[in-house]
Amino acid sequence: MARIVLLGFGDNDAAEHFIASLWAAQEADDNQTEVLQQETVAIGAIAAACATVEALVARPTTYCECKIVGKGRGSSRGKFSAQTEDWIRTQRFGWIVHKRCNKPNRWVVRRFVHQLLAGVGIKNLLPELDAQLYPPTADDVAEERAEARTQEERDEIRSETDPDQVENVIPSL
Ligand SMILES: [Zn+2]
Repeated sequence: MARIVLLGFGDNDAAEHFIASLWAAQEADDNQTEVLQQETVAIGAIAAACATVEALVARPTTYCECKIVGKGRGSSRGKFSAQTEDWIRTQRFGWIVHKRCNKPNRWVVRRFVHQLLAGVGIKNLLPELDAQLYPPTADDVAEERAEARTQEERDEIRSETDPDQVENVIPSL
């Protein structure tokens, strides 16, 4: 289990500078101690001067691994029918979890912030800022395509496109 801290900045530039410094510090390698130092100071200074903590959210890190099949199919060896399974909201964190194992759906865990924001229709500006700060190169695009061919990505694409998985199994946040 992890936490998500939502920071508020009255000044848009300060918010973007904060993120740029954080990313630069985290990307700095062992030969860039000066960059690391400068950016670390900037992160602390901007946060102390401009940031307000707006929210603290519990982020699930483990997900339901039960075999749940679509409503049209009945329960069989080790598999549960979506018809008989309940998804409930946890009292403390407000997560929707599978009642049997007490864990959220895999897709929800993997794309937690996306799901969270999509639930209220708010757009995440981080990808836009990321593309601005680090414009994707042709190599990046090729790499992303190659990565999509891994087993995990294929599973993800499959669960995303399987109507049973999407409509019957994934609870909306
Ligand atoms: Zn489960």
